[in-house]
Amino acid sequence: MARINDNFLKLQAGYLFPEIGRRVAAFAAEQAEKSSMLIRCGIGDVTEPLPQAAIIAMHKAVDDLACRESFHGYGPEQGYAWLREAIAKNSYQDRGMDITAGEIYVSDGAKCDTGNILDIFGQDNIIAVPDPVYPVYVDTNVMAGNTGDARADGSYEGLVYLPCTPENGFIAEVPNQRVDLAYLCFPNNPTGACASYEQLKAWVDYALANDTIILFDGAYEAFITEEGIPTSIYAIPGARKCAIEFRSFSKQGGFTGVRCGYIVVPQELTAKDANGKEISVASLWNRRTSTKFNGASYIVQRGAEALFSDEGKQQTAALIKHYLGNAALLRESCKKVGLKVWGGENAPYVWVECPEGLGSWEMFDKMLQEALVVITPGAGFGSHGEGFFRISAFNSRENVIEVCARLEQLLG
Ligand SMILES: *Cc1c(COP(=O)(O)O)cnc(C)c1O
Repeated sequence: MARINDNFLKLQAGYLFPEIGRRVAAFAAEQAEKSSMLIRCGIGDVTEPLPQAAIIAMHKAVDDLACRESFHGYGPEQGYAWLREAIAKNSYQDRGMDITAGEIYVSDGAKCDTGNILDIFGQDNIIAVPDPVYPVYVDTNVMAGNTGDARADGSYEGLVYLPCTPENGFIAEVPNQRVDLAYLCFPNNPTGACASYEQLKAWVDYALANDTIILFDGAYEAFITEEGIPTSIYAIPGARKCAIEFRSFSKQGGFTGVRCGYIVVPQELTAKDANGKEISVASLWNRRTSTKFNGASYIVQRGAEALFSDEGKQQTAALIKHYLGNAALLRESCKKVGLKVWGGENAPYVWVECPEGLGSWEMFDKMLQEALVVITPGAGFGSHGEGFFRISAFNSRENVIEVCARLEQLLG
């Protein structure tokens, strides 16, 4: 009989979003008449239609495939040069960062990339993750055999957890031990926290001193509208030697259903082999990409390219403004009823302390049953998320206004 990868058996049964789905379904079955009034602010999925520029570009791309002269079959595994150049110019070079098109690899999304990157790293690395955390970083390391068993609180043996708390403003601090790989995500999911230049510099300095590779998830970069907050780890000198960056069009352009992201692997970045010899990380990632991936679709890449046109930029900015406007309303309502709030500025997530005496799943149930609003319990993101909940600003304005009214009625 074939053997399975036993690491999968270490995964915790109640993955956060299935458990939310189970509780919502159970409530809807019990209270059928109320279920049409449910408003979902749980899963971080966008709600608004795609920017018009992307729609036009993708329609045209379909037409390209309709005739022999403009037909496209397999493209480069790394992505088309025109998209990689548009990304390098608009996301990096125009903002003073020296990232070239050759260092960018286009994919079908950042979730896959953050998991797939583990293919090129060995088994004995010491790995740090923030707590609370985007669950993908942890679970992909469990599957890859980089952890021990789960503990009672849901954390895993063998990982270094970096507590994110009100005291440190939910910004993970550099560990007091050396680690090989460290995941960072800013603007943060779930807390909405954004790291300052000084805070990121502390991480880059630590990484350079300790030969650490930072895995920087910038999926929410487009939500940074305030001057002075770094939009990329490469805004920090030295980051080219110690950081990989993940980006996505999912939240920037509403592409969660279209699927397109990219990863930046700078030429200087190295890691060592079994004999201690330094090997280019980009060479391995390129090898992995060309072996296991056949590129994101031509149509989708044309759609992503269009987000960098003048119209595309304006339409994207309008989308972001809409969601940030939602976040501001949610923040205000929470404050009005006396709750402590973080995030929601330069981020689509509002992170809220539960009312006195309520745990995060209790708050989830209360909001579901009494306000008919689905939120995300902080404990689902890690033990330091207990006592907090996340409200997603990805919604229509109408729904957000209704959520605010219900929240104020419930707790006011
Ligand atoms: C949404 C999200 C992503 C993007 O995922 P895609 O696969 O590109 O849709 C990546 N990281 C975090 C933390 C996210 O919340």
